[in-house]
Amino acid sequence: MDYETIIEPFRIHTVQAIDLPDADARERALLRAGYNLFGLHADEVIIDLLTDSGTGAMSSEQWAGMMRGDESYAGSRSFYRFEDTVRSITGFSHVIPTHQGRAAEKILFSVAVDEGDVVPNNTHFDTTRANVEYRGAQALDLVIPEGRDPSAIVDFKGNMDVGALREAIESAGRDRVPLVMVTVTNNSGGGQPVSMANLKAVRAVCDEYDIPLFLDACRFGENAWFIKTREPGFEDKTPREIAREMFSYADGATMSAKKDGISNIGGFLAMNDSDMAQNARNLLILTEGFPTYGGLAGYDLEAVAIGLEEVLDENYLRYRIRSTEYLANRIHAAGVPIVLPAGGHAVYIDAASLLPHIPPHEYPAQSLAIELYRRGGVRGVEIGSVMFGRPAPDGGPDIPGTMELVRLAIPRRTYTQSHIDYVGEVVIDAASAASDLRGYRIVEQAPWLRHFTARFTPLGS
Ligand SMILES: *Cc1c(COP(=O)(O)O)cnc(C)c1O
Repeated sequence: MDYETIIEPFRIHTVQAIDLPDADARERALLRAGYNLFGLHADEVIIDLLTDSGTGAMSSEQWAGMMRGDESYAGSRSFYRFEDTVRSITGFSHVIPTHQGRAAEKILFSVAVDEGDVVPNNTHFDTTRANVEYRGAQALDLVIPEGRDPSAIVDFKGNMDVGALREAIESAGRDRVPLVMVTVTNNSGGGQPVSMANLKAVRAVCDEYDIPLFLDACRFGENAWFIKTREPGFEDKTPREIAREMFSYADGATMSAKKDGISNIGGFLAMNDSDMAQNARNLLILTEGFPTYGGLAGYDLEAVAIGLEEVLDENYLRYRIRSTEYLANRIHAAGVPIVLPAGGHAVYIDAASLLPHIPPHEYPAQSLAIELYRRGGVRGVEIGSVMFGRPAPDGGPDIPGTMELVRLAIPRRTYTQSHIDYVGEVVIDAASAASDLRGYRIVEQAPWLRHFTARFTPLGS
């Protein structure tokens, strides 16, 4: 097709109504929720960009697969279909289903990581970091320096800093580094991709020290598409061939099927080492379930197996990456500062540069996220000093996070271009009122993960 418009490569077969709460209803909802968007009922939201995790639309093939689900406790047909699919995409010999990504992480780190160990990653996702730290180990983020600069335009901004990795291994000592992880795409670093060349280079360092390499593969399909379109030598390869090559440099992977499994639940842990897999399965039986279902129903295994195939479809990936970039281009062209280039699954608005009059301890990104909901019923998520800052021990202003971002995550196959146009309008409208926006104060907060439950009050103008 030579036309410029990249269409949604699906038509709509079942629809779910969106409520359209008016401005008064939204203001009441904000007040009730203490200005915390996690406290909203989903029915109070018009366009929900809180997360792309488990929020995608399944295909008619997936729903049909669910009807074929085999619910046998042991050895179900659905498990073998799932296992075949994961093996053929990843090449790993042992495939262990889990109810979602963090369960795979918990099991992997329980069998591989000990107290005092160090686990390098490009950037740990928050559950990955928490699971490493829960083992008494240290989670090191070693993304390239450009990966920490919102305005640096680099093709593979999720790459690991290979020099820093080598230094980290030397300084910890090889025996304290049980594994290296690379997250594709780098979710906490703006959904930025990792190049094949970088994976190869990381692999070479791991080989030198004889350390296993695991991929956090949640968005392996999106990463494969970025490699196809940005890395020389891959333009004629299929996303499946590229994914297979990505996995070939690793010894195993953790996966949340709520992302590139295009399913509402599910995940897996996969690896080549038989002894490690045996230990993982023993633990799986204790916490998740028998190794042929791992906390999932047979019908979930079917949905994930089909979703993993569908995510590698070129038409899907072209549309997926384009739709994120479309929103990014639109608001960037209107002068709204965002993290560049656009990530695979989300657009990140740089609230620190949009709202320079609101200091970090008055939560500029929270203020902007609230304004997007107030004006248009759009729900994003603050990724800034509410999420990553901490109260100062002396009762003074908070210790801030490193960036003040509002993330707009795009659920898969869920919203149409007009929904996204609407989001663009709301963002541009809110940004045009930036100088009128005020900061917030936290009036109630939990001792950890405060962003989920904190209550806020607006500061006087
Ligand atoms: C979502 C996610 C996880 C955790 O998966 P869950 O299914 O939410 O438990 C781990 N790593 C990355 C990069 C993720 O995006």
